[in-house]
Amino acid sequence: MKIGEYDVDLIETCRFALDGGAMFGVVPKNLWSRAYPHFDEQNRIAMSARALLIRGNGNTIVVDAGCGGKMGEKLESIYALDNSVYTLDGELARHGVGLEDVTHFIYTHLHFDHAGGSTRIDSSGETVPTFPYARHFVQKDQLTWARNPTDKDRASFMPENWEPVARQDLLSTIDGDGEFLPGIELRTVHGHTRAMQMVIVNGSGGEDAPGGLVYCADLIPTSAHLPFPYMMGYDNFPLTTLEEKKRFLPEAFERRWLLCFEHDAFTHAARIIAGKRGFEIAGTVDL
Ligand SMILES: [Zn+2]
Repeated sequence: MKIGEYDVDLIETCRFALDGGAMFGVVPKNLWSRAYPHFDEQNRIAMSARALLIRGNGNTIVVDAGCGGKMGEKLESIYALDNSVYTLDGELARHGVGLEDVTHFIYTHLHFDHAGGSTRIDSSGETVPTFPYARHFVQKDQLTWARNPTDKDRASFMPENWEPVARQDLLSTIDGDGEFLPGIELRTVHGHTRAMQMVIVNGSGGEDAPGGLVYCADLIPTSAHLPFPYMMGYDNFPLTTLEEKKRFLPEAFERRWLLCFEHDAFTHAARIIAGKRGFEIAGTVDL
């Protein structure tokens, strides 16, 4: 899809699953299971880990990389990791993008289901950056947080997902919001984890065209997380997430942004409207 000056695609990297209760926090199962009716006998919900591919002005930018392929059997079984249909390399190749072509890689944050695919094990058994020529970007406070995690989110941060990138001097830190490249903005939020960054591609502002596209990362991981209290139990600071959703969703509606849901296995992206009981989906789009 063309957004402003860029071609934008969502790239499937895998299927996996997380506990439905943990994904919906305080919302009881009889409610979340109606909003997202896709769970297995272990109560795990079916999830995507979609990367965002942005191409234009000579740049090939990838945002997030899914779980990757180096978690080991035990974790793969806990998270029901499935690469039988989708892999990051395979889906990029299908879009005509080789791993060497990527010029910029943006980590929204360093949790394993976002950062895992940014490194891989090479033929000599060494863990190396997946995108050998890309400059990688992460928020400075997120990197500090990931290197000193709390007991609550320690299991989500696996240093092998970013330290090989840092060791090869391919990792740059960014401090706060701002323009990343012309037409592409970064916006930080802090409720899920410290300094997670969302990526906004600005639209051309035409009558029917979306005003822009937002890669929401874990602020709104699936379309079922649009209602304000539908928040993840994984969030470190849930009241901050609540404030951030209350600021973000009215702006997204006002500016006619297309919201991309990184973890929704069924809905890629949607425009929203202000309904009677909060913000609702106005129409979905497959990218
Ligand atoms: Zn996360």
